[in-house]
Amino acid sequence: MLTVDKITDFFCITDDFCKEFAKKIKTPKIARRCKNYELFFFNILFKKKIIHNFFISLHFILYHGRIVVRLYHLQLIFMRRKTNAVWAGNVGIGSDFPIRVQTMANTDTNDIEASVNQAIRMIEAGAELIRFTAQGVNEAESLGLIHSELRKRGYITPIVADIHFNPAAAEIAAQYVEKVRINPGNFVKSIAGTKKKSSSQNYTDTEFEQERLLLRKKFVHFLEICKKHKTAVRVGVNHGSLSERMMNRYGDTPLGMVESCFELLRICREEDFDQIVISLKASNTVLMINAVRLLVQKMDEENFHFPLHLGVTEAGDGEDGRIKSAVGIGSLLADGIGDTIRVSLSENPENEIPVAFNILQATRTRITKTEYISCPSCGRTLFDLQRVIAKIKAKTAHLAGLKIGIMGCIVNGPGEMADADYGYVGAGRGKVSLYKGKTCIERNIPEKNAVEKLMEIIEKYEKIKN
Ligand code: SF4
Repeated sequence: MLTVDKITDFFCITDDFCKEFAKKIKTPKIARRCKNYELFFFNILFKKKIIHNFFISLHFILYHGRIVVRLYHLQLIFMRRKTNAVWAGNVGIGSDFPIRVQTMANTDTNDIEASVNQAIRMIEAGAELIRFTAQGVNEAESLGLIHSELRKRGYITPIVADIHFNPAAAEIAAQYVEKVRINPGNFVKSIAGTKKKSSSQNYTDTEFEQERLLLRKKFVHFLEICKKHKTAVRVGVNHGSLSERMMNRYGDTPLGMVESCFELLRICREEDFDQIVISLKASNTVLMINAVRLLVQKMDEENFHFPLHLGVTEAGDGEDGRIKSAVGIGSLLADGIGDTIRVSLSENPENEIPVAFNILQATRTRITKTEYISCPSCGRTLFDLQRVIAKIKAKTAHLAGLKIGIMGCIVNGPGEMADADYGYVGAGRGKVSLYKGKTCIERNIPEKNAVEKLMEIIEKYEKIKN
């Protein structure tokens, strides 16, 4: 008789083996038994938090006389991680709102005119929050001037102050702007100075606690100001600037980043302050992804539900910067993690905005434009694919949310574009077939009229005017 031992019998094995065994377990009796096992395993997987967002088809296979289970098919059902709502002025951040796009100015904050002009360019490019550095109290005061000038000119986009090493600047900025980012790694100075730099010179528990209490005192005072002015806070941990104390105890590890953040989160809970957004950033994309995943796991364990800000720091410029950001931010978005994003490029800040929206579109977490599913073409393509794509794009770029497939041939085209709402598929020399979803509704029509015909179909079914 077939038996399932326990969760330790949970293996992934190759497709071929699975297919081979699938042939053997087709009898209805075994299939029925498998159904029960499926339920059993689902429960274990959910309880152990091995799966959250995945729809899983489990296949049961006989392997050396024991039943093992394989995750045969993973299909993502997108579910955003549930968070509480944080308000930066009139902009809500969290799972009840669209994922927000933000960027950061690179002007001198004391140059009010240049900062206001750059802010306007960033806002007009689509930024929903804009950040300025406030390295000292003068810059924090300047933020007040930038803020009122923007409001005078009719721009209500929330402003975020970026603070390092200067709690006094944070306290001033919190009175003017909608959100303040602080870095737990440098919010207060290390009491140990430089003498603990060597990892062999460990902080004693007393020293560790002494410094934590100093941080607590400063942070609580800052939170009181934020409460009074309804200012949101981002606890922004950077891999490269962990405190001496955290480095000494945890090293520059994802755990060190998470613990650095958690110290402040626990204080927020004690002080009944929930207007907190969190970020853990690193220039190492893989480390950043792992740190954020660990953070989310620990937050679940401690019942924290703060929204997350995602970003890869020092990502670079051009294609490199864009790909790094897409991988780091996109991987987490695909997990359902992330409520606001910043793409950091060594370019003009307004260049970051289209990249951010493209990452959101590619992860299907925020749809802002038409999506095209087109093949790379090959020897089977019998028309000028690039010209047709350009023509269809020119006519449909305004149809945000619509997915249009443009495929070179009938052999693979319909299957590969199965996700599309409408499709244009090469059907032979000079012939095209048009699809609505998976259904072919115009077969082998002349290529010269095909784009116009596609537009007629889209207009008819979407009830729109081109
Ligand atoms: S869809 Fe057809 S034409 Fe396009 S790449 Fe695939 S096989 Fe080639």
